[in-house]
This record gives sequence, C-alpha cells and structure tokens, in this order.
Amino acid sequence: MADRPPYHMTPDEFRRWGRAVVDWVADYWATVERHRVVPEVEPGEVRSWLPPAPPEAPEPFEEVLADLDRVVLPGTTHWQHPGFHAYFPANTSGPGVLADIVSGGLATQGMLWQTGPALTEVEAHVLDWLVDLLGLPERFRSTGAGGGVIQDSASSATLCALVAARERALARGAALDRLVVYSSEHAHSSLEKGARVAGLRPENVRLLDVDDTFALRPDALEAAIEADTAAGLVPCLVMATIGTTSSLAVDPLPAVGPIAARAGAWFHVDGAMAGSAAVCPEHRDQQAGLEHADSYVFNPHKWLFTTFDCSCLFVADRAPLVEALSILPEYLRNAASESGRVVDYRDWQIPLGRRFRALKLWFVLRWYGAEGLRHHVREHVRLAGELAGRIERDPRLELAAPARLNLVCFRHVDGDEATQRLHEALNATGRVYLTHTRLAGRYVVRAAIGAWTTEQRHVDALWELIDELA
Ligand SMILES: *Cc1c(COP(=O)(O)O)cnc(C)c1O
Repeated sequence: MADRPPYHMTPDEFRRWGRAVVDWVADYWATVERHRVVPEVEPGEVRSWLPPAPPEAPEPFEEVLADLDRVVLPGTTHWQHPGFHAYFPANTSGPGVLADIVSGGLATQGMLWQTGPALTEVEAHVLDWLVDLLGLPERFRSTGAGGGVIQDSASSATLCALVAARERALARGAALDRLVVYSSEHAHSSLEKGARVAGLRPENVRLLDVDDTFALRPDALEAAIEADTAAGLVPCLVMATIGTTSSLAVDPLPAVGPIAARAGAWFHVDGAMAGSAAVCPEHRDQQAGLEHADSYVFNPHKWLFTTFDCSCLFVADRAPLVEALSILPEYLRNAASESGRVVDYRDWQIPLGRRFRALKLWFVLRWYGAEGLRHHVREHVRLAGELAGRIERDPRLELAAPARLNLVCFRHVDGDEATQRLHEALNATGRVYLTHTRLAGRYVVRAAIGAWTTEQRHVDALWELIDELA
C-alpha cells in the first residue's frame, strides 16, 4: 500500500464500493413497496440519529452504507414508491441514475463550450431531438435562431424567461416599476416568486380568472391588459400553462399567444409536467398554439424517467436571453467564444457552473427509445382514466375537474369535511400518498399516476382503499 495516495478513495476502492452502492439502490427499488410511502418521523428526529460532531479520523465505508438503512430510509418520503400519487411524479430510472454517476465522475464544469465541448454539444443536440420527439415548433431548434437549455427546475427556467422579458421591456424604455406579468390564478407559484426575484413589484403580478375547466379566460387577459395599459403600466410577460399543478388545466394558447403579441409582451408557456405527454401524438392537442411562444419549459424529471434535475427551457430566439444573462469577465475570454461559432450555456442560465445534465436525458432517450416512453405515458394515462371512471360511477364521489392525462381530482359528495377525512384516512394507511388542492374554493384530493414502479395492481389497490374509506 506504499503508493496509496493519502486519504483519497482509489479507483479500485471506488470500483468495490461503487458496486456496493449500485447494489444498494437496486435492492431499494426492488423492495421500495415495503416501506410506508411517508415515514413516521417527527421534526428533528432524523438529526437526533446523527453524531453531534463531524468525524476527525476517516470512517470505514461499510459504516457509511449502514447509515443509509439506519438514518436515511426511515426518514425518507419514497417518491419512487408505487403508491406515491402526491404532487406530481418525479420518476427516476436506471439509465438516468447511471448517467448521473458518469456526470459526477467526469465532473465537467460546462459554463463555456471551451470548458466542456461534449457537454455543450450533446445538450444542444439532445434538445433538438426533443423538438422531434414531442412535435414542438421548429423555431425552438438550435439550428435556427432558437434553441434549448437544461436548467435545474422549471422555476429557474421561468425566472430566466422573465429576466429576458424584463430586459427587453427596459431596453424599449419602460420603467421597472411599471412592468406587469399575467397568468391565470392557477399558474404555478414560481411565476410570482420569479417576479419577486426579478425585481418586479409584487402588486404587478396579475393572477386572472379561469373558466369552468380552470383554464385562463382570454377575455380576462385582454381586459387586464387594457386596464393596465390605460393606467400607464407596461405588459412584460404573459404566461400560459399546459397542465396546471392543481388540475392539469390547459390555457387556450391559440387565443392567448396573439393577445400577448399585440400587447408587446413576452409569451412564456409552462408545460412542466404535462409537456411530457407530447411524446404521444394523440396528446399533442394541448400544445396547439405553442408556435406563438417566445419560451417554453417542461420537466423530463417529472414524467419522462429522467432523474431530477432536468428541466428543459426552449426559446424561439436565443438573442434576448443571451443578451439579458451574458457577462464576460477577462478570465473567461477565449477564442472559441469570440469566434461566434459556439454556444456558451452560462449565458442561458443564472449560475456560471453547470453539470453534464444532458447525459441522463441522452441515456434515457436511448434506453427507452420513443416507443418505450410512449408505452409508459400511455399506460399511466390508461390507469388514471380507469380510476377516474370508477370514481365517476360511485355515488359517494365525484370528479372535481375533467380527468386529464395522469391526474384525477376528486371529492366526496358530502362536502369538504368528508373529502378531507377520506384524504387523511388514505394517507394514514401508509400504503398510498395523495395531496390536495382547492378548486373553486372546495377541498379536492389529487391522485397523480406516474411513478415508474406503479402498475395496474397498485392503482387497483388505491381504488380499493378509496372504496373502503369513502
Ligand atoms: C411542477 C411544476 C412547476 C415547478 O417545477 P420545478 O421544476 O419544481 O420548479 C411549475 N409549473 C408546473 C405546471 C408544474 O407542474
């Protein structure tokens, strides 16, 4: 062991422990169903299992692994559990995790083309593949004026769109405190947060009325823009959603896009979860009108088997985004950037550094193929449709919104208290986990189907629990 470097894990040790870690994850997946979906821990309990001080001397790796079972598993909410129907699916996959290992091993910092040519070009190329795979507008391709970039989350992507929109409006002479953003009241909260971070006034965020499918009403948008313009305010950005968080409602893009354009506002579209459904041609209706969008975000880390984090932002014209976010200190100057022949992704995001996230998307697309992705999306949609049918036929229950794709929103006919009681009883079983929302002021339980471990028998079991506890 004379030439063993002090303290580092040698490649041979990494080989050995890497196998042990992969085995641990494989065993976890094979047995995830045995856990309660949500752990029974009190706040502070997990910390109480940890030593108060960091180790002074190196510890055996066996002990680190043992703590995965002692500390981590008992304190984990199991998002990959087949009974996980809360929030949205955040499904992972073997190829996604393996790519993350490679990304961690290469540890490339892809801020410039120069610092990671493969990272940059695989990303640009795979995002162009998504244009084909999802039937997205041609203007999002990097071979034209547009292009795509992978961000950590839809929240960051929306913030980048907002900053590009803000800079464009300021360049046209508007004052920051006059800028207004618009969406429906069911838009994701990341728009409001982004507006705050981008320095817009909180009272200049308009959350507009929806119709009876919980979609944005174009007449409400038009009226708000008219009133604001008359008051000397400046429409900066309009956001439409393909698949709202509460009920998967789809805003009418073909009407909203032209209204945004007439007002001179940036048109951003959020398809964070439902966007993945477009791998199936029969689910592309929802993105009609997307050709009006200046930017579009969807998350392969939700419903496309790509391990968190992987959120894709597409822009129709990359110039305003790059102009808004580009900074060039002397120490980053290089010939490739100056040649104008490369993409430097640091100009497409807020941080400078970035990981090789495209690797996991690339691995996933190649492992599943388009047919594999379509197969699973269709299966989730079928299972959700079956559950919706059972709920609809039961006189004690009703659908709270039209069931769409992989989401079923339902309530008890006896009212909010009965719905909430049913919800709590379902979660108390530990076998399933569902979250709630409010639609038209009423308490609603949401069942999202999309964990990669969820099969027919699990959705049957969910229905049996609902039937028993309703
Ligand atoms: C999940 C979700 C978001 C937020 O996604 P993050 O990647 O967690 O920021 C935004 N919009 C919609 C419609 C979502 O479903």
